[in-house]
Amino acid sequence: MSDTFAAYLVEKTDDGQSLRRAELRLDDLMEGDVTVDVEWSTLNYKDGLALTGASPVVRRFPLVPGIDFAGTVEASADPRYKPGDKVVLNGWGVGEAHHGGYAGKARVSGDWLVPLPEGLSTRQAMAVGTAGYTAMLCVMALQDHGLQPADGDILVTGAAGGVGSIATAILANLGHRVVAVTGRPEQEEFLRSLGASDIAPRSDFADKARPLGKELWAGAVDVAGGNTLANVLSQVKRGGAVAACGLAESMSLPTSVAPFILRGVALYGIDSVMASFEKRQRAWEGIVQHLDAGLLESLTTEVDFADLPALGEQILKGQVRGRLVVQLP
Ligand code: NDP
Repeated sequence: MSDTFAAYLVEKTDDGQSLRRAELRLDDLMEGDVTVDVEWSTLNYKDGLALTGASPVVRRFPLVPGIDFAGTVEASADPRYKPGDKVVLNGWGVGEAHHGGYAGKARVSGDWLVPLPEGLSTRQAMAVGTAGYTAMLCVMALQDHGLQPADGDILVTGAAGGVGSIATAILANLGHRVVAVTGRPEQEEFLRSLGASDIAPRSDFADKARPLGKELWAGAVDVAGGNTLANVLSQVKRGGAVAACGLAESMSLPTSVAPFILRGVALYGIDSVMASFEKRQRAWEGIVQHLDAGLLESLTTEVDFADLPALGEQILKGQVRGRLVVQLP
C-alpha cells in the first residue's frame, strides 16, 4: 500500500500564491492529536477564495486548502476519539492556517472535531458542509430570537447558493413561509422544490437602501452583505431579526441605525469558524432533524478532485448551484 496520499498545496509566490497537486506523507501534516482518513470534502465560497487567491484567506504557506472534511479516525491520542470513529470538521482555521480537507489525510486537534451525528454519512456531512452548517447556525439565531412561522415570511438571499439553498430547505421544513432571493431566475423550479413559496429577484435589493422601507419580512438569512443586506434591514418588520453570515455581494454595509432604533430590528452576526462545540452539536442535530435527505441529495453535485481549481473560480462568480461534494482519491 502506498504511504503517500493526494493533496492540493497552496504555495507562496512573488506576486501572491499558486496552487498545485502534490503527494504528501503523514510526516508532512501539521501538529494535532487526531489523524483522520479524509473520505469527503466540499467546495465552499471561502475555499474558492483560498484556491484562487482572490482574497488572502490562506495565512500560512505551503498549505493544504479545504475548510471542512468528514472521514474516519485513523489514530488518536485524544481519549474522546478512537480509530474507526466517524467525524466531521468545519472551520477553526483549517484550510486557512492549518492543513485542510483537500488531502487524503488530516491531522488536527481533537477539540476541532465533532462526532458524525447518527443518521448522517460522511458524504452527506460534506453535502451539508460548512455552508449548510452555517445555514443551520443562521436558523438557530432566528429561532433563539423567538421567530415563529405565524410571524410572517422569512427572506433568504443568495438562495440558489450553498448557504441559501440549505437555509431555504430547513426553514420551509420548520413551517416558515420562505421567500427566496436569487439572481438566477432559471433556478426558480429548483428553489420551489426546496420549499420556497415565492421568488424575488436579486435586483430588487441591489440599489442604495432607504433608511426604512415597507415592513415585509419577519426575519431573514443574508449571505450577501452590501446593498442587499441594507435593503433587507430596511424591510424587516418591527421586532424582527436578520442573521447575516456572508459577503457574496460586499463586505460593506451601507445602512443607518433606523431599522434598529425605530423598529427594534436585531442583526445577528453568524461566525461558523470559532463556534463552540455545544453550538456545533446543536447545529448538526438540527440538520439531521430538519433537512430532508432526499432534498439534500437533490441540491448536491458530486465533482472530481481534479476539477476543484476551476470550480473555485466558478463559486466566486456565483455560478455554483447548491452544494458540491468531492471524494478524496
Ligand atoms: P455560494 O457561492 O454557494 O452562494 C452565494 C450566493 O450568493 C450565490 O449563489 C448567489 O445566489 C448570491 N450572490 C452572488 N453574488 C451576489 C451579489 N453580488 N449580490 C447578491 N447575491 C449574490 O457561497 P456559500 O453559500 O458557500 O457562501 C455564501 C456566503 O456566506 C459567502 O460570502 C461566504 O463567505 C459566507 N459564509 C460565511 C460563513 C461564516 O461563518 N460567517 C460560513 C460559510 C459561508 P443566487 O444566484 O441565488 O443569487
